[in-house]
Amino acid sequence: MAVAGRSNCGKSSLINKLVGRKKLARVSQVPGKTREINFYLINDRFFLTDLPGYGFARAPEAARKHWHVLIENFLTDNTDLAGIIVLIDARRGLLTQDEQLLGWLADLQIPTLFALTKIDKLNRSGRKKAEAALRKDLDLHEDQVIATSAHSGDGVDTLRESMFALVDSFSTETV
Ligand code: GDP
Repeated sequence: MAVAGRSNCGKSSLINKLVGRKKLARVSQVPGKTREINFYLINDRFFLTDLPGYGFARAPEAARKHWHVLIENFLTDNTDLAGIIVLIDARRGLLTQDEQLLGWLADLQIPTLFALTKIDKLNRSGRKKAEAALRKDLDLHEDQVIATSAHSGDGVDTLRESMFALVDSFSTETV
């Protein structure tokens, strides 16, 4: 299972919450700092793969190229990928920087869950709007979009259950 998102979207915080540890993935003060792929073994069963954040405006061109090659190779060479969780900052929504990743996921038909992050920063109607906009823009099924907050814990259990469900269906298919 992989997790991807723009730099500073709250990926490290959400991964820590998802796997129930405080300091598993490093929460960075400096946007765009994590450049490598980290793997976390979950329940001795599967790896949760933390892909480096993308779209950091001040990242040098070489870093962007590095990200491009790293992610494209990871996605195209990986026949063991059950799915991916794409994180979208709820206040920002989809940005052009997400398009490259979404294009690869569509081409490769990788099952995708979308987690809106930092949902605690929005009020009730803001949350609804953010969820509806993402569903509409990408023509997603209702269950594919999960509103989450690493700070309040909202939506984290639902995301975890959906992640396990994807892993389960992948294991069944590939037995
Ligand atoms: P990453 O760069 O995507 O790994 O993001 P981090 O997890 O390092 O978080 C980036 C910033 O967003 C940090 O200042 C976090 O404290 C903040 N942040 C992360 N998750 C949440 C959240 O659920 N709610 C709020 N309000 N802030 C968050």
